[in-house]
Amino acid sequence: MYYTSTRDNNVKITSAQAIAQGISVDGGLFMPEEIPSITLDEISKLSEMKYNERAAYIFAKYLTDFTDEEIHYCTDNAYTDKKFSTDNIAEISHLFDGTYMLELWHGPTCAFKDMALQILPYLLTTSAKKINCDKKIVILVATSGDTGKAALEGFKDVPGTEIMVFYPEQGVSPMQKRQMTTQEGENVAVCAIKGNFDDAQNGVKAIFTNDEIKAVLDGKGMMFSSANSINWGRLAPQIIYYISAYATLVADEEIKLGDKINIVVPTGNFGNILAAYFAKQMGLPVGKLICASNKNKILTDFINTGVYDRNRDFYTTISPSMDILISSNLERLLYLLCGKNDAVIRDWFGKLATEGRYEVTDEVKALLKESFVGGCCDDEETKATIAEVYKKYSYTLDTHTAVAVKVYEDYKKATGDTTRTIIASTASPYKFSASVLEALEGKECTLDEFDMVDRLHELSQYEIPEALAELKNKEIRFAGSVEKTEMKDFVFKTLGV
Ligand SMILES: *Cc1c(COP(=O)(O)O)cnc(C)c1O
Repeated sequence: MYYTSTRDNNVKITSAQAIAQGISVDGGLFMPEEIPSITLDEISKLSEMKYNERAAYIFAKYLTDFTDEEIHYCTDNAYTDKKFSTDNIAEISHLFDGTYMLELWHGPTCAFKDMALQILPYLLTTSAKKINCDKKIVILVATSGDTGKAALEGFKDVPGTEIMVFYPEQGVSPMQKRQMTTQEGENVAVCAIKGNFDDAQNGVKAIFTNDEIKAVLDGKGMMFSSANSINWGRLAPQIIYYISAYATLVADEEIKLGDKINIVVPTGNFGNILAAYFAKQMGLPVGKLICASNKNKILTDFINTGVYDRNRDFYTTISPSMDILISSNLERLLYLLCGKNDAVIRDWFGKLATEGRYEVTDEVKALLKESFVGGCCDDEETKATIAEVYKKYSYTLDTHTAVAVKVYEDYKKATGDTTRTIIASTASPYKFSASVLEALEGKECTLDEFDMVDRLHELSQYEIPEALAELKNKEIRFAGSVEKTEMKDFVFKTLGV
């Protein structure tokens, strides 16, 4: 199987090249030329396997240039109980009748990003070896909070790599900030920027695609790659857990093989929900994909109108990992929906860059609505949902997952659709203790970050993740911040070039 670019169909490269390179030179994202299929028979077989085996089975369909041994090296090292606090890697909890929480946050940094970022370093270093690349790989990450820490944990002290993370100074939770500024490892650097996530993401993209900067690195035996969800090596691992969850529900006799399920995803950069769409296109029996947004509801508007318009206010919310106005992975979906027409994608995303707005065709609008439902809620509704679910079901939601639950409840009320439903639960509530406590106790919490964790433990009875508890005693290593125009200087300084 070969990979092409959403902005140039003439690109034809292997998965190893796509993963090593991260983003295409034309600014497009890499896509498999065809989406492979999975049959119900295969899904039935998967239901008897462990997570790492399921992952290897599905990866083999996408990474056809990898040997079995290479794939197993990646999956067996990433998906172990040494890295995840549960044997199942992803847990499924029953919330209420026919509704399942797919808990994707049992990894080392307590957010779903670990599902992909624990394996990405293995995929990336294996890919580099396969294409005979002996350059040092420099990973640049823009983060709205969770990706940064997950990438740092994944790449720390991985030979032949160096990683730099940029986050919006005012845009992450205190715990997220603490997780990043205390990061250990010899090959890591973290920097706050005076701007929002989109500024950070645009800055990283600009550095990536700047030929002058690339030439400087090349001269020093280094190359850039990306750990953001624009990298195919981030997206592919996310397809796995949806198929795996379905297989588990079949094994547990919650559903029958072939039954349709709906999937709800709290969405920011559109990576997680796009992975669910890939699973559906492969043949997983999926009805609706419900795209849940917070007050930054650009995707809700887009799904409802076909107009993507980023000329709007940006809000800082209590679900910061979804505070995004440019959802990069939407480009991959639109490429598929417009019949892989690279000229159309160049036109729309050119307009997004210059005018901040584009409108898709009626045909694409119809296709969008066939698979996707969009919904949103604000911080007050998010908090009310956390309180209500806690009271009714003794289940403590984080602020992102609560957005998904609220949007799903609205959807169910509006449509009467009772299809069994998987809700992607994307973070441990402990990562957002302040907001979760405020929701549960009805007043602002004035405790310090770690006392809040203890208080939340009293209420939720969930085990406190060790990785968060031990931050208390860790030294702050990265306290600095820069203007958004100074990101390049920070990169050069860190690399010593
Ligand atoms: C990143 C993140 C999201 C959004 O996922 P996308 O793939 O960017 O759409 C939602 N919730 C949490 C907790 C996250 O870390």
